[in-house]
Amino acid sequence: MDPQAPAAADNVMMICPNLKCRKVLQVSARYRGQQVKCHNCGTLFLVPAQKKADKPAAGSPTSGDPV
Ligand SMILES: [Zn+2]
Repeated sequence: MDPQAPAAADNVMMICPNLKCRKVLQVSARYRGQQVKCHNCGTLFLVPAQKKADKPAAGSPTSGDPV
């Protein structure tokens, strides 16, 4: 576990919303909140602006706030 994720390598992984494509797309975090085009099928879709939590906090209190 790394306490802080490097912002530079913060890419957004998502699956093309086109059901006939479903290609896994990796776009830079700089495109958050913007529309990008799937280079496989050409479908335009919106990159979610908010980072999705990968793991749910299963009641493990972190002892040490970055603030
Ligand atoms: Zn696609």
